[in-house]
Amino acid sequence: MTERGEVAFGDSRIEYRVVRSARRRKTMEVTIDKPGRVIVAAPLDTPESRINEFVRRRAGWIIRHDGAVASMPPERRFVSGESLPYLGRAVRLSVHRVEQGPVKVSFQHWQFDVDVPDALHGDERHSQVRSAFEAWYRKRAALKLPPRVERMAQLLGVQPSAVLIRNQSQRWASCAPDGTLRFNWRTVMAPPALIDYIVAHELAHLRIREHNAEYWAFLAQAVPDYRLRRQRLREYGQQLCF
Ligand SMILES: [Zn+2]
Repeated sequence: MTERGEVAFGDSRIEYRVVRSARRRKTMEVTIDKPGRVIVAAPLDTPESRINEFVRRRAGWIIRHDGAVASMPPERRFVSGESLPYLGRAVRLSVHRVEQGPVKVSFQHWQFDVDVPDALHGDERHSQVRSAFEAWYRKRAALKLPPRVERMAQLLGVQPSAVLIRNQSQRWASCAPDGTLRFNWRTVMAPPALIDYIVAHELAHLRIREHNAEYWAFLAQAVPDYRLRRQRLREYGQQLCF
């Protein structure tokens, strides 16, 4: 059975797997296998509490190296005063009860006005309001992304065959072998600088599929500070769940 443990540190949560080895005499070692996957190598007889303490002491380092798991998305309730992100800004919701009709989302002066029929309650209300917002974000994505794609494509000297807006909860965007770029509609929740990074990242894959040195150098032509933006996107991504 795999031995696992967990450490909470500030707002972050670290989950780790323990690999015990007879060859290891005294020391423990933490490695990060990939983002969110922490492995602790420990001698056979190390008590669990010592391993946990060891991880806790290295929590800062682990988090800086991407070892923390994405925090749980905030529970959306879609009530007045709550806010949703758009282009990196928190946009407040003002919810109005209406007698009938569909749920309606409108956006004006950086505020969401949401009409919700009185008869809707509980899960039904939640899912209908959520769909109305998804439809709104999809429309915005279809409006905002193509010009940015065009500008970045010019900088990089590439041309996508199509740009589609999709619901991909696990990723921001993807680039298919046939040159089609697919963007998560949640992309427009992010600040413009990060949207441009997402766009340029996929466009650069039109030239180079892998994330090798050549790829990053090519991407840097359009986004010289891509390292910084990539880091910010990782931090930001955790807030964007919906
Ligand atoms: Zn990539």
